[in-house]
Amino acid sequence: MRALPASVLAVCGLIASACGGTGTGGAASGQAAPATSVEQTAAEQTPTGQSPAKQSPPDAKPLEGKVVVIDPGHNGGNYRDPKAVNRKVNVLTKWKPCDTTGTQTNNGYTEAAFSFDVSKRLVKLLEARGATVKLTRTSNDGVGPCITERAAIGNEAHADAAISIHGDGAAPANHGFHVIMPKKINGPVDKVVGASSRLGIDVRNAFAKGTGLPYSTYIGRNALDYRNDLGGLNLSTVPKIFIECGNMRNAAEAAKFQDPNFRQKIALALANGLQHYLKA
Ligand SMILES: [Zn+2]
Repeated sequence: MRALPASVLAVCGLIASACGGTGTGGAASGQAAPATSVEQTAAEQTPTGQSPAKQSPPDAKPLEGKVVVIDPGHNGGNYRDPKAVNRKVNVLTKWKPCDTTGTQTNNGYTEAAFSFDVSKRLVKLLEARGATVKLTRTSNDGVGPCITERAAIGNEAHADAAISIHGDGAAPANHGFHVIMPKKINGPVDKVVGASSRLGIDVRNAFAKGTGLPYSTYIGRNALDYRNDLGGLNLSTVPKIFIECGNMRNAAEAAKFQDPNFRQKIALALANGLQHYLKA
């Protein structure tokens, strides 16, 4: 459980670790990969000056043709609309709130802001590698979307991989990161449990290497945890994981999360982990 200020406790405090939710959100920001110019020399052109039938292929980008959905946990406006956020939704194994506010550092840097910033950095990195990327929310001042919608966005995009990004709110002495993967629940997620596990291990490996953060001292084994109570996982029909990048209530990790350079390091590690999975 996490210790939270009273204002946050109302919405988030009841959720056991993993800070709750996935949500939906809205705007898809999928973008096509930039056009690659194909250089032609005069010698390659036909006498009439038209393009030859065969052109040298453009440099292939490693993630060309891959679709990734990134879900920044929570939303910066969730605290303003407890009625909408607390509405119960069916996540197949239980009913739970549509979303939560998420946690924050002791000096008020919110998990919603952290996850959104890391997600935007990750979008840029993946698009530069050729992937088509969609976000489940495109601002940090709105409400939601619900965890059910967040899963639906990945499903509708037919994502090759989906990741929900969070920071945990555990007791201050706890530290380290962990990845959460779905379990079989005799539901639609069952068919992607195996792929999600491979995705989780690839991201775990890349995250440890790229950030230097230790495996969680308080959840899972070797930074791997499996759950059947998260709507964002239970309702996914595409390979999907959550990452809790560390403990926002731990002073050392909170300081790192507030450093833009470290957030870039996190985004790069996540991009590398996703690429390793997608290229396998
Ligand atoms: Zn969270």
